[in-house]
Amino acid sequence: MIVIMKHGAAKQDIEAVAKAIMSQGLKADISSGEDHTVIGAVGDVSVLDMDKLSMMTGVDRVMKVSEPFKRANRKFHPQDTVVKVQGVEIGGKKLCVMAGPCSVESEEQLFGIARAVKTSGGLVLRGGAYKPRTSPYAFQGMEKEGLELLAQARQETGMPIVTEIIDPRHVEMFEMTVDILQIGARNMQNFQLLKEVGQTHKPVLLKRGLSNTIEEWLMSAEYILSRGNPNVILCERGIRTVETYTRNTLDLSAVVAVKSLCHLPVIVDPSHATGRSWMVEKLACAAIAAGADGLMIEVHNDPAHALCDGPQSLTPQGFDQLMQKARGFAALMDREL
Ligand code: PEP
Ligand code: MN
Repeated sequence: MIVIMKHGAAKQDIEAVAKAIMSQGLKADISSGEDHTVIGAVGDVSVLDMDKLSMMTGVDRVMKVSEPFKRANRKFHPQDTVVKVQGVEIGGKKLCVMAGPCSVESEEQLFGIARAVKTSGGLVLRGGAYKPRTSPYAFQGMEKEGLELLAQARQETGMPIVTEIIDPRHVEMFEMTVDILQIGARNMQNFQLLKEVGQTHKPVLLKRGLSNTIEEWLMSAEYILSRGNPNVILCERGIRTVETYTRNTLDLSAVVAVKSLCHLPVIVDPSHATGRSWMVEKLACAAIAAGADGLMIEVHNDPAHALCDGPQSLTPQGFDQLMQKARGFAALMDREL
């Protein structure tokens, strides 16, 4: 349930409504926008008296929220959330491009790619250290050493780093080393992991699961938000459909839908969505046209010999070309890049 306050409602009236909600054992989320303040009631709303609330001073109207996601709901929080990390904003006017190798493979590989990503205008360096691989015999990542290399690359380039966390026991180590915690598609519904990252204040990049609906995705975001971490970035990375030509099917309508249903920033990963490097640039531009707040792109200095996801990785030159093309689309959408 949400209580929408009148334009310019007094602070004490807002507080009185929040108190009335909390007195019934519910939580009250206050979201102050330019036009009006919205107070969201979270918990068993059946105990609230809607008529009583709507008659309180300063209240414009009271509305039921039918969707199961509350804190992630745009009705609760009408203005866009902008996640800030080390001077980079995700969800503002400027689009945020996160790029780097699928996996950290060596110092030379990571540092070379990191420099190229920065030169071309990437704002966040990505790189997997702990890899969730389908085969237990495939390269599992450089693990702790990979995290250390990422931290060194951040120091050298000044770019914040994003990397995937696959184990709730790693939260403390990641909190100390990493700027954005990535929850991969395969772990989107690892609820214990979601609860753990929800207890940190690190931004979380939540990828959509391979076969998950928009509502399930937003409920996973709700897990993180409900534990007290408001810094969630959503990432559409393609879903499983009947089509097998591409690795996944990029669901751009989900970007449009989620931007309307939810206030969190949404970025798009056309690399994992297509699995084919030659398709990445066009879908990156399409994502910007669909209203995405940024991109996640895999870049490798030698895709043919990459230890993971080579076929979908762009060379640094390919990435530079993508950035130039994408800039035109950003301008068309009244965004910066
Ligand atoms: C990745 O970003 O390298 C990755 C494994 O992505 P996803 O979880 O989307 O498959
Ligand atoms: Mn990958």
